[in-house]
Amino acid sequence: MGLTAIVLGAAAGGGFPQWNCNCDVCRLAWAGDPRVRTRTQASLAVSADGNRWTLLNASPDLRAQIQATQVLQPKGLRDSPIEAVVLTGGEIDQTAGLLSLRERSPFMLMATAATLAAVADNPMFGALASDVVSRRAITPGEKFALGGGLQAEFFMVPGKLPLYLEGENPDTAEESAANVGVEVSDGNKRLAYIPGAAEMTPLLRQRLTRADAILFDGTLFSDDEMIRTGTGTKAGRRMGHMPIDGEGGSLVALEGLSARKIFVHINNTNPILVDGSPERRRVESAGWEVAFDGMEIAL
Ligand SMILES: [Zn+2]
Repeated sequence: MGLTAIVLGAAAGGGFPQWNCNCDVCRLAWAGDPRVRTRTQASLAVSADGNRWTLLNASPDLRAQIQATQVLQPKGLRDSPIEAVVLTGGEIDQTAGLLSLRERSPFMLMATAATLAAVADNPMFGALASDVVSRRAITPGEKFALGGGLQAEFFMVPGKLPLYLEGENPDTAEESAANVGVEVSDGNKRLAYIPGAAEMTPLLRQRLTRADAILFDGTLFSDDEMIRTGTGTKAGRRMGHMPIDGEGGSLVALEGLSARKIFVHINNTNPILVDGSPERRRVESAGWEVAFDGMEIAL
């Protein structure tokens, strides 16, 4: 078995549909329209042997995601195939699922020092006792082993601090260890997971040229989507997410890369969630796939 990834959740924070939202796209989901399928909040499980798994981010929906994913379920009396959790940032939708992993089962928690500090600042995460859950701070550019024959490496991605830590005017184009992407490899194939990117840089694109699969920030189709739909007051880039469409959008920025390209972290307002919509057809004709919960990517 080679490098395998399972999309545990394909939606952005809030999930799809979002509990308090009746936007045009959520309304279809609430009505059970067959053109949409619901999605939980973004997380990916990766493995090289099918037995030992690492989670990339721990979403608030993690318990339901484990319930939906047989390979992540316990095999013995008290155990778990989940050996490690890797965090690409400290947002609530990237970390709250850690609270579902209490109950004294050992695993390794790996993130940059900045993200581990954000987690440590919240006393609730003390429920993951340090004698059971070991924390390891990883510097971007440093290679680290995930177990089961997988290697990983963080790389800097323009983004911003977690919403709950940001000030009035956050620098969303800053590259810092608060927001990273992660490359996972089994020594043969490479997968890049980038659920949040404020913009593309030459260095980032250079790194992506060697990936076999790219799971990329698909939060918003257009930068002003939340303003236009009346669901928010901030543009996408202000939230640390480059749009799919338009100048500097991901369709243009990742054009020509040979990897399999898959949108993840999709906000509930994004019309690519609707099968057959013009926006969905647009991304598909550009060679992109739209992730759904349970999607399996075998490289
Ligand atoms: Zn909505």
